[in-house]
Amino acid sequence: MVLKLFNTLTRSVQEFAPSAIPGLTTGMYCCGPTVYDYAHIGNWRTFVFADLVRRTLEFAGLNVRHVMNITDVEDKIIRRVQENGQTLREFTGRFEAAFFDDLKALNCLLPHQTPRATEHIPEIVALIERLVARGIAYPAGDGSVYFSIAKYRGCGCCYGQLLKLNLEELRVGERVATDEYDKESVADFALWKARVPGDGAVFWPSPWGEGRPGWHIECSAMSMKALGETFDLHLGGEDLKFPHHEDEIAQSEGATGQPFVKHWLHGAHLLVEGRKMSKSLGNFFTLRDLLAKGFTGREVRYLLLTAHYRETFNFTLDGLAGAKSALARIDECVGKLRALAAPAAAPAATAPAGLLTGFAAALANDLNISAAWAAVFEWVRDTNKRLAENALTPEAAAAALAEWERVDAVLGVGAKPDLAIPPDLMALLAARQAARQARDFKRSDAIRDELKAKGWTIEDTPGGPKLKKI
Ligand code: AMP
Ligand code: ZN
Repeated sequence: MVLKLFNTLTRSVQEFAPSAIPGLTTGMYCCGPTVYDYAHIGNWRTFVFADLVRRTLEFAGLNVRHVMNITDVEDKIIRRVQENGQTLREFTGRFEAAFFDDLKALNCLLPHQTPRATEHIPEIVALIERLVARGIAYPAGDGSVYFSIAKYRGCGCCYGQLLKLNLEELRVGERVATDEYDKESVADFALWKARVPGDGAVFWPSPWGEGRPGWHIECSAMSMKALGETFDLHLGGEDLKFPHHEDEIAQSEGATGQPFVKHWLHGAHLLVEGRKMSKSLGNFFTLRDLLAKGFTGREVRYLLLTAHYRETFNFTLDGLAGAKSALARIDECVGKLRALAAPAAAPAATAPAGLLTGFAAALANDLNISAAWAAVFEWVRDTNKRLAENALTPEAAAAALAEWERVDAVLGVGAKPDLAIPPDLMALLAARQAARQARDFKRSDAIRDELKAKGWTIEDTPGGPKLKKI
């Protein structure tokens, strides 16, 4: 599989060719959550996209090392810690735990490493020291340390690799102290911020006095510690291109003199009901808000995975309802295959590989997810037809299931089979679901009675209907 992905560095779709020798590790770093609140559905679009990328790389046979940091100290966090009167760890720990719960609910694979910024202060300080030693960073009078864009460019380095910046208007030495700023405010940015009264108890010692790191240097230090000075893939939401990722490149390449990352991937943003999410518009959702409305993590994941990662995605509650029925179609087909495949000793070797071929070709083409889903639903249609015609042997059904499972290792939306429940009962449950979807309540009641006669009852849970022994 020759995987092609858009690279923000070259502004073109190019072959993803990891520097590692085949079989060795492909380093992938995704900027993680800033743990000052519950992650919202926009954040989740980006993290589910990162999960899709990781699973696709693994599907392509690469041995991936996936690192995602936890930003547990920056401007917004410090403000909230002061407002809440808690310690930094008490405050961030709660949202960090919620983040991992949500990650699981969305069936995202756990990254191999999730380093916290506060546990990398020595690495951060050492990286700033390297920049100071090379003359690219300088201490300011107040004990803060700034990155000098002029000195960096003077070394022949390029500031503005991910997007075009107008550096002609840059006034040498002008500074920006906040973590977030727009490209109209390009200026020397803070690597280390001297302690001020508003920081409360959030500070660490450093060669320049007490203070705390800037947000951008945290990711340079943690990514290079985990993956080396040059690694293959870095991703995040499109808003991070500037200044966060541009500054990460400058800090890392300024310190090491080596290329930092070979391939940059950025996911487009998510809108809700056509508008930018905001609490005042009432269109701001966390995953928890959606679970409380009765949707499942699986449905949210499916919906987030329906749009191409470089296109803005319009998230709607109607779309989520649609996700429910799309998944029910897959479940019904897979449920019937399971029931039929049960007696098969082994999958038939001659099973058609149409699904896998079409699916892999779609993903290889810059993660063309619409084409990937089209391959899945064409397979569902074709499989249902063959099931209806009794044209599948148990071996062929087992082979079709094995094919689906390989595809679902990338999509991550398949319902896990409940091994304790016999497959014929699972098939009945799927058929009852389908009857309900079709508003054929007579049939769904008949199936309920049949299940009852066999000693099972149906429980409708927020995660979908489940069978329980009476
Ligand atoms: P944060 O926790 O604010 O650092 O953001 C975590 C990730 O979510 C970053 O990669 C952001 O680029 C991404 N992000 C923030 N807002 C949105 C949005 N509306 N749609 C998609 N991604 C977003
Ligand atoms: Zn980052």
